[in-house]
Amino acid sequence: MSKRPGPEDIDSIRLRSREEYLEKRSELKLAELRRQVQEEQEEERSNPHLSQRELREFARNRETLRLAESRLAIDDGLDGYVLPDADGSKLETLNKRKKKDVSTYKSEVQLWEDEVTARAKVAQIHRPDRLQQDDYEFVFDPTQALNFVSAGEWVDPDKQRLQEQLDAAEKKAKSIQEVRTSLPIYQYKEQFLDALADHQVLIVCAETGSGKTTQLPQYLLDYFNKEGGTSLRIACTQPRRVAAMSVAQRVSEEMGCRLGQEVGYSIRFEDKTSPNTKIQFLTDGLLLRQFLNDPTLSGYNAIIIDEAHERTLATDILMGMIKDVGKYRTDLKIIISSATLDAQKFSQFYNDSPILMIPGRSYPITIYYSQNPEASYLSAAITTVLQIHCSMKDPGDILVFLTGQDEIEAGKQSIEETVRKLGSKIPELVVCPIYSALPQEEQGKIFLPAPPGGRKVILATNIAETSLTVDGVRFVIDSGYSKENVYNPSTGLEQLVVTPISRASSSQRAGRAGRTGPGSCFRLWTRWSHFNELEESTTPEIQRANLSSTLLLLKSIGINDLLNFDFMDPPSATAIAKALEELYSLGALDSTGSLTRVGRQMSELPIDPKLSKTIILADTHQCLEEILTIVAMLGESSALFFAPKDKRLHAEAAKRRFYTRGGGDHVAYLKIFNSWSEAEYDPLWAKENYLQQKALTRARDVREQLQKLCERIGITPSSCGDSNYIPIVKALVAGYFSNAARLNRDGKSHTVLRNGLSVRIHPSSMCHEPTEVPKWCIFSELRLTSQEFIANIVDIDPQWLIDAAPYAFKKAD
Ligand code: ADP
Ligand code: MG
Repeated sequence: MSKRPGPEDIDSIRLRSREEYLEKRSELKLAELRRQVQEEQEEERSNPHLSQRELREFARNRETLRLAESRLAIDDGLDGYVLPDADGSKLETLNKRKKKDVSTYKSEVQLWEDEVTARAKVAQIHRPDRLQQDDYEFVFDPTQALNFVSAGEWVDPDKQRLQEQLDAAEKKAKSIQEVRTSLPIYQYKEQFLDALADHQVLIVCAETGSGKTTQLPQYLLDYFNKEGGTSLRIACTQPRRVAAMSVAQRVSEEMGCRLGQEVGYSIRFEDKTSPNTKIQFLTDGLLLRQFLNDPTLSGYNAIIIDEAHERTLATDILMGMIKDVGKYRTDLKIIISSATLDAQKFSQFYNDSPILMIPGRSYPITIYYSQNPEASYLSAAITTVLQIHCSMKDPGDILVFLTGQDEIEAGKQSIEETVRKLGSKIPELVVCPIYSALPQEEQGKIFLPAPPGGRKVILATNIAETSLTVDGVRFVIDSGYSKENVYNPSTGLEQLVVTPISRASSSQRAGRAGRTGPGSCFRLWTRWSHFNELEESTTPEIQRANLSSTLLLLKSIGINDLLNFDFMDPPSATAIAKALEELYSLGALDSTGSLTRVGRQMSELPIDPKLSKTIILADTHQCLEEILTIVAMLGESSALFFAPKDKRLHAEAAKRRFYTRGGGDHVAYLKIFNSWSEAEYDPLWAKENYLQQKALTRARDVREQLQKLCERIGITPSSCGDSNYIPIVKALVAGYFSNAARLNRDGKSHTVLRNGLSVRIHPSSMCHEPTEVPKWCIFSELRLTSQEFIANIVDIDPQWLIDAAPYAFKKAD
């Protein structure tokens, strides 16, 4: 840990402001918790049918509130009290935290900051007499200390603080109404409601930040309430999980209800809705899945396809499906909402439906291009952030578009380190990351105002392009890239690739700078490149993605004639053929193209067909428990480990302890999970082993969900233990035989059997040197960075390939 700065080190200013900032966050959280507990108490009084689980949760929330309101918890600052998880693990965390800091993913800087803050606080609470100004950079106000001892003027600081919190909550409610009525879409509310009465389908086209996502569902609710009929539920789809969660949170605040009640969200493996939910935000993929159980969407009276311009695979399929359902369900209202001007295309697809065009309000934006191509957009972006922050007198926050979690965390660390070094020479700069795997408590941070006199810099993936709008951004720095899921039908391999964005995307991104005043956008590519190398618009995902999962779902819904499906932009025939071939090779389709029994079971599991096949074969190999763990852990594998910079070697050694020769990454994940479970899911255990408690907890939740789904489709539990892993690997081979690779003569690289691609083992894998490199292996992931890497690897016996797919593999003579 770095040494504590001396008294002249002006870091104190930044640290103090951070305190204020965190305190503000705590206040809002506390008010929310208090409201929730009050509601729960009422419910407990009036509803005798609450389940044990609910009662336990209520009790836990009460306890959390009690702790939060007690002096200790309040003074604990940021993490002193935490809204409890469904499993209560945070409460455990809460109790243990006093002894040791168990927060999960933290950068070195954060850990340092936490330590310093904690020390400062302990000193403030317990040793006010000994506290010297030069002892800690936390500046202690002596008049406050006197208050504790002077009887006359003493004001209970807790009460005062509670009052302030209530005031803040009230002020917030007022400002929510102001924001709602000031949104551009508000002027068109009546027009929207009138059009709704006359038409089944409406296309709404308005710039990002106009209020489409947050307001349209509420307007629809007003409409149905006015109609007097029974209002069921309004679905609003989002291409991204984070957006669904964040927006649901916001709308529940706007409607003054608890998240999960009237307003809720559903994402894969997580449902936060209740029978009285009226507005449900859900991912587009999840709504598509609803057709399996409810082919006419009878549970809804309106569907909003939001962010339609993003043209994700699931959104595109939904467009066709919903158009069809609309023919039978004339009462169903369908809203297509888009942030770009491609409304005409949507309108044509829906038989010339009316378009509601809402003019945006946007200030002029000055665009700057790089003079020369940048070698590294990440370092260029960081430099530009500091340049803007230090040299621009104008206030306003900075939004940086990067491509993923790793980059964002690295950028955050680097900016924070530099800012720390510069100390008081520059105003405060708060760094807020936002990406899909970011824990939910952290996500709301981006909406908090910057500290007075300071600035906020948001490091985001393309989630901030149109899904989430943060007001107050005046500077956009665009890396020019995003991560796209790219499928190459000729190799049959799918990978996340950092891809240049289109010109259309870059204008969207630039637009984020001009919402509250004139802005600037810094593009980290050259002007020449902009007009000569960037594509005009992004290719719809349906034309570049692996279709096997979607086609399996369509088949099980009963849509067999894929070539005549009503696609807005049809996928290529080759892509369809490849996907059908994959499904056939996995045994999901028979030779006539009809769904088999296995295929039907597979379609019930909301995961990649390769994984669902593995789960089904785990039944045959009697190792379901183990495979479920591995599948759940694979989903978290990128967020599982953390290694503070100064403890890399320790972390690496800790990781290796879970490795068993021949068991590769997969069995290691199993051992990690089982050890954690033996340690009673202890966050301290996780921290000591350089594992992220959050990722482990998520894996446990996913595992539980998968287990329930397996029960439903008639797969009985079975277990082989984690020492005999042969059955486990055999089940994995049954799903992943197409991802088999063989070691080359050089002893370093591998060749993928199916297509001859030369690949290397990713350094993050347990099978990377110095372990003995597997001669034959299968891999669950292909990563393209500087070269082609395979990750999540397990050793196999080639005979198992022949057993799993005899028509694809045979012994060489
Ligand atoms: P659109 O869907 O048209 O892009 P939204 O409905 O998402 O617009 O956003 C409308 C406004 O609500 C924006 O000004 C945005 O900043 C604000 N907003 C959305 N979510 C939050 C939040 N969680 N906290 C504060 N403001 C928010
Ligand atoms: Mg939106």
